[in-house]
Amino acid sequence: MTRSSHARPVQEVSAVKAFRTELHPTTAQQAALTRAFGSARWAYNEFLAFNYARYQHHRDGYGAYGYCNAYAFSVRFSLAKLLCKRAEGKPVKPTMAQTQLLDELLVGSGSPAMDIARMVPDVARLLLDTLTQAAQLPHYEPWVVAAHSKSIKQAFMHADKAYGKFFENRKNPAYLKRLAKRGKEPPEHPRFKKRGKTKDSIYLVERVEVERHRIKLPGLGWVRLKEHGYIPVGKHTISSMTVSRVAGRCYVSCIPKQSQHPTRNTANMNPSEGIGIDLGIKNLAIASDGRVVENINHAKEIRRLNKKLKRQQRALSRKLKAITHRTYYTEGPKKGQVKHVTYTRPLRECKNIIKNQRDIERTWQRIVSIRHDHMDKTIHELVSQEPRFITIEHLNIVNMMANRHLARALSAQELGRFVTRLAAACEEHGIELRQVSPWYPSSQLCSQCGYRNHAVRNLNIRAWDCPRCGTHHDRDMNAARNLARAEHYTIIA
Ligand SMILES: [Zn+2]
Repeated sequence: MTRSSHARPVQEVSAVKAFRTELHPTTAQQAALTRAFGSARWAYNEFLAFNYARYQHHRDGYGAYGYCNAYAFSVRFSLAKLLCKRAEGKPVKPTMAQTQLLDELLVGSGSPAMDIARMVPDVARLLLDTLTQAAQLPHYEPWVVAAHSKSIKQAFMHADKAYGKFFENRKNPAYLKRLAKRGKEPPEHPRFKKRGKTKDSIYLVERVEVERHRIKLPGLGWVRLKEHGYIPVGKHTISSMTVSRVAGRCYVSCIPKQSQHPTRNTANMNPSEGIGIDLGIKNLAIASDGRVVENINHAKEIRRLNKKLKRQQRALSRKLKAITHRTYYTEGPKKGQVKHVTYTRPLRECKNIIKNQRDIERTWQRIVSIRHDHMDKTIHELVSQEPRFITIEHLNIVNMMANRHLARALSAQELGRFVTRLAAACEEHGIELRQVSPWYPSSQLCSQCGYRNHAVRNLNIRAWDCPRCGTHHDRDMNAARNLARAEHYTIIA
């Protein structure tokens, strides 16, 4: 348990801490995972397609739009699966409700299942549709029938949620305004998941067994863990988990049943003062107590990887160029832009291109991992000293990104992520996280005498002497000291 405090919290949800670690599946397990990811993606798309068809039907003026929610869709799915199994002559064990529904479906008596209708109106409506409109239950492929049904149902629920968000968005004037500003039409339906384009993942709500070095996953058996001690060990310690694959590596992220926060020993606590932290591009963070955290993107390893990435991207673009034929707009506002791309060979056949793409993914993932590791260690170090409070400035990242010269370095710094993570860590350690208003002139004030030097607005001034008291200031360190002293702030954690 001692080491799990080093585990990285995955989501910004502060109340529940998730634990994430890498899996070390065998080749057979890798293949099984690929299938599982594939069927979850299929389920997501199946749900969207079904509801989109109904939606279009409604829009064309045929009756009310009967949206089918995840629960009703699951019932329909189970029934269809049952029929598929029965058709293949496999033994089936229908539930009472399913038996009743099946009887009506197969006999075609036409009488709606009134008892169930009273219990679950959505299911009843769906079945009524099935019975009255003679809409047959679909016949599923054997691989769908064989897929792990709980992760399929979770995928339905995710798609349901996406649809909910979609309906919500369409009623949201701010959202529509944002789209219009970019000259875009609102989407017709939530986006379908595409192989290779969306992140592979399955979500499971199930009792999972965890041992020190391995985890038991449904349908996969025991899967080895790459590192030990990141997930709470035991039989029923996990309430839900997500298995995902990024750049060929598999991860499991678990939400434990009980929050396993280490209880803080307040008796030994050293009630040190609060600190101010100046976040920036030159250095990631400068704390008012004198600590300077370098920008990892200047480190040798990251620069080497960036060079490698560039080489790999150049190679890929060269290979793509060789098999594509492009037509360009010759007139109009889009003149010079690509109009249409045709491939002389199907992409899936180009083994070297696929290999190249995988290499790029891997290098990119490596860079991101190093960055995140650096950030998480920095945050851990800042909060482990248990200051009374931490003050940061309000970063208007959208405005800062508008500066072309800073945009790249800024996005590489991921300051938004830093703040989210810091907030979570502060909450866990019981530290007050303060944020000052964007108008607070943290870099212009003299941290010794309070004199405001307007000339420091110029970003090129890295160091200055106070005209009133003569103190020599480093720009960022001075800002951090001012942040620590700030009296007007909002508490964000
Ligand atoms: Zn001064």
